[in-house]
Amino acid sequence: MNKAVYCQKCGMMIVFNRTVKGAYMPCDTPSVWYTPAQNGKDTILNDRGEIVKGYILKDKTDGAQLGYRPHFVSCKGWEKQTKKTTQPENEQTSLF
Ligand SMILES: [Zn+2]
Repeated sequence: MNKAVYCQKCGMMIVFNRTVKGAYMPCDTPSVWYTPAQNGKDTILNDRGEIVKGYILKDKTDGAQLGYRPHFVSCKGWEKQTKKTTQPENEQTSLF
């Protein structure tokens, strides 16, 4: 169901995951293990499509959950892209 594509901004492989609201969010691949925490520094899209806070782990630990890190966190081209407000939206050619 999830389609892997390459980010047009930075060239990284990303995947679009559906959120509970029905939107598609570009996320890093592969998926990550994380510990949910209300005051966590990381933002994670969990396997139910909910955006949660927590701590991304290097390795799976007890109680770790599988999720995806939203790509805009790591994308090098994201900041530039969002500042550009004069560019008209074109959903045919832009992933974002
Ligand atoms: Zn990117």
